[in-house]
Amino acid sequence: MYCKLCGLENLETSRRCIKCGESLTGDPVGGTESFRQKSQFVDDAIYGGICGLIGLVVGAVVAGTVLAELHVERQYMSLCVLACAGVGTAIGRYIARKRY
Ligand SMILES: [Zn+2]
Repeated sequence: MYCKLCGLENLETSRRCIKCGESLTGDPVGGTESFRQKSQFVDDAIYGGICGLIGLVVGAVVAGTVLAELHVERQYMSLCVLACAGVGTAIGRYIARKRY
């Protein structure tokens, strides 16, 4: 297989040119499908984690102020906090997906 960029002959099984590093498979260098999937997975985890944490804090604040003011039962407060964390995680993952 010949390199499109420098013309050097490489092995048929090579994915990159041994001389200049150009991709021989047609994929842009550093932008293969598996690389994108991995980075998307990491983004999902980071965005989901951060937004989930924000949701957890917001839920805790709401439970500690508004719900306490309304004399809501304790188990409903924890439910509210968990729900907010879940919604936050979902929003974070949605934002991560939108970037692709
Ligand atoms: Zn080359």
